[in-house]
Amino acid sequence: MPRQRLIAANWKMYKNPDQTREFFQAFLPLVADHTRDEIVVCPPYTDLHAAVEATTGSNVAIGAQDMYWKEEGAFTGEISPGMLLAAECTHVIIGHSERRQYFGETDDTVNLKLKAALEAGLTPIVCVGEVLEEREAGLTEDVLRRQCLRAFHAISAKKASRLVIAYEPVWAIGTGKTATPQLAAEAHSLIRTEAAKAFGDRLAESMRILYGGSVKPENAKSLMAEEEIDGALVGGASLDAQSFAAIVKY
Ligand code: PEP
Repeated sequence: MPRQRLIAANWKMYKNPDQTREFFQAFLPLVADHTRDEIVVCPPYTDLHAAVEATTGSNVAIGAQDMYWKEEGAFTGEISPGMLLAAECTHVIIGHSERRQYFGETDDTVNLKLKAALEAGLTPIVCVGEVLEEREAGLTEDVLRRQCLRAFHAISAKKASRLVIAYEPVWAIGTGKTATPQLAAEAHSLIRTEAAKAFGDRLAESMRILYGGSVKPENAKSLMAEEEIDGALVGGASLDAQSFAAIVKY
């Protein structure tokens, strides 16, 4: 069975509810008849309501950019899986490199969040990827293996059926530098091998692995031409309706 590609937008800390409504007014007609790929937009928490309202009945799903692993409690500033479900989110990004770099996210918290997201019925998009120094030191494979091993720890194949991974080399995020399709495909293949070790060949074969890092309308087609690349996680170029639609339609 071929894997259906997933094209996901990560808006990071951009846009307010009015700008969110404006985006979807422009974006939805551009992709209205697009059935080839799954489309997900992950805005900031404060835009989730506007985004869900704007996309109800459309072919675009809404996700969050992070969540906490507990269901409720004295955790000021955090959002739980249940709260995301109540807000009608279906997807959640976990372990984005900006969370790892600036907000203390670790392989262990990624694992806790992944377990909680799967338990709740959300579709997690777990980000992995090496920083420039690690790539230059020849450590990319070690880093990806470690991140996968720890993220997948104590999760059953049955629970992991919805799991999506995003390979995002950190040196390519927001820098305009894109991994070559070949280099990305090699990393994806390694991640798939780790998934097979953790969950078995069958799940690993059906698991989608997205590429993220300066994906633009100009390079989307050549990246998506790689069999190992099952979609994209798009930051900067997803903020503009025309540009994100062009990527979706690569
Ligand atoms: C991201 O935020 O996940 C990302 C890949 O950003 P950009 O497309 O801007 O590099």
